[in-house]
Amino acid sequence: MTGLERDNGIVVDFVSDSVSGNYPYFLSSYAFFTKSSVGRRYPESFHPYRSAFQRDRDRIIHCAAFRRLSEKMQVFTAEFGSYHRTRLTHTMEVVCIARTVGRVLGLNEDLIEAAALLHDIGHPPFGHCGESVLNSLVAEVGGFDHNLQALRIVEKLERRYVGFPGLNLSRELLDGQAYKVSKSGTPLLEIQVVDVADSVAYDTHDVDDAMEVGLLNTDQLMQTALWKRSADRIRERWTNLNEVEFRQAVVHDLIDVQVSDILVTTRKRLIDAGIETAEDALKLSVLVAPGSEIAEQKGEMELFLLEHVYRHPKVMLFRNRITGWISGIFEYYIANTDELPERYDGVLKQDNKRRAVADFIADMTDRSARLNAFKKGN
Ligand code: MG
Repeated sequence: MTGLERDNGIVVDFVSDSVSGNYPYFLSSYAFFTKSSVGRRYPESFHPYRSAFQRDRDRIIHCAAFRRLSEKMQVFTAEFGSYHRTRLTHTMEVVCIARTVGRVLGLNEDLIEAAALLHDIGHPPFGHCGESVLNSLVAEVGGFDHNLQALRIVEKLERRYVGFPGLNLSRELLDGQAYKVSKSGTPLLEIQVVDVADSVAYDTHDVDDAMEVGLLNTDQLMQTALWKRSADRIRERWTNLNEVEFRQAVVHDLIDVQVSDILVTTRKRLIDAGIETAEDALKLSVLVAPGSEIAEQKGEMELFLLEHVYRHPKVMLFRNRITGWISGIFEYYIANTDELPERYDGVLKQDNKRRAVADFIADMTDRSARLNAFKKGN
């Protein structure tokens, strides 16, 4: 069966059994096959019943940096209530969307899952605000970047295994994370899927969260084409929805529109480019992406969010406080490196004082950073 018209008007023509929802899951020829993996820096024997990427997934989930995501903010601090996403729940939304896209395209879902779980593990406390403060504090020793920090964590800072530092992840995951820093070359299709899923997740849930905390309303959002399109469709389909029901229906539709569009356009690009193997895709530019219309509408939505949410006076107020907290903790530990936990001794010796303090602060959750800031009298 082909040519299934979804209720959002986008034709998904390549899922053979979407009606039942139980479509068979086969790897496409252009998927990255686990047996092609370059392997790990420190060679290990194969696991009897988990693939290499399943094992990577488990190592990521079991590491301390991953657990800390539960107390790290995405956009809103705890002052804004308890509805909004944390860095951990954002990560889980990215995993869901990425696995869905990957499964429909017949890509390696284990690799996708592990890469999605990994993608935000390097975030310091207080999201991008915490990151920009840390970046300026360590500018003279190379700056701070959450994507690079993820690599430091999984290659060096986590100490969980007897035989090696870090998590000894498969090379494909490290390369995928390194691409997020360099943006040079073309990553595996599986890594492209995670990138695109990240964007679907935050463009959508930041709208939902901002509405819940009262920073945005429906009238404002109707200025954006992406919201308007879904809102119009929901109004056509349902009448008498209350405000919250309406918002939630539109938010669900926003995800559906974006994901369906990615599937249709990506599939077409793969066919048009004659992609047959994972290597073929590496020779071209990024293929897993929304079509031009949705891409443009997402760009408009992101500018809208920047202006109305990320730079909202209430959000900026916390940014100022956060800057003070992080700078205060940083200066305190620069002056008192003997108070750093022992696990940073290696960084102090091999790198420098500023990097060791940045690693220590980056490890903190929002709450532990606050407690530290107050302890140090800020
Ligand atoms: Mg993310």
